Amino acid sequence: MRTLEEDLEAARVFHGHLCHGMVMGVRLARYACRELGIDDPRSYRDLVVYVEMDRCATDAVSVVTGVTLGRRRLKWIDYGKMAATFVDLATDRAIRLAPKPDVPHAGPESDPLTLWSDWTDEQLFSVTPVKLVVPQEDRPGAPSGNVHCARCGEKIQDRREVLRGGDVFCRACANGAYYETYGS
Ligand SMILES: [Zn+2]
Ligand SMILES: [Zn+2]
Repeated sequence: MRTLEEDLEAARVFHGHLCHGMVMGVRLARYACRELGIDDPRSYRDLVVYVEMDRCATDAVSVVTGVTLGRRRLKWIDYGKMAATFVDLATDRAIRLAPKPDVPHAGPESDPLTLWSDWTDEQLFSVTPVKLVVPQEDRPGAPSGNVHCARCGEKIQDRREVLRGGDVFCRACANGAYYETYGS
């Protein structure tokens, strides 16, 4: 397992700077792995993490644990909250960590490396055991399902298709996409 200093340095290299969010994220992720008894998360294949924000701390969680979107071990839940749930698929244990309400807020003048250095992980974060079953189609491994959209023809994996009137559609064609095409 890397030391805190090594994780902070790896986070700085990956993210481009060492901000308050990175320091919090690194500590949160290290604490979670310790609580789950995962000594070397980057070589452990059964960890899945649901992050609740797409900000600095998310990169920190990814760097410390090795989970990535492309390996299907990082899930993004768009709550806009600095919190994350760590799931061990081998044991089905899941814990959610979030900063406690009385943790001092980082201002632009405070040094991210020293602001919380007198705080223990237990003082910084709540750890809540939660129930969370990772659906089969969300798990790492070979894709489940492989169909083509009846409208756009594009391939849909992992059972993300929508059934309408006996036909199979992608979510964009069935529900409207997050983008518009020109001239349509
Ligand atoms: Zn940052
Ligand atoms: Zn489609």
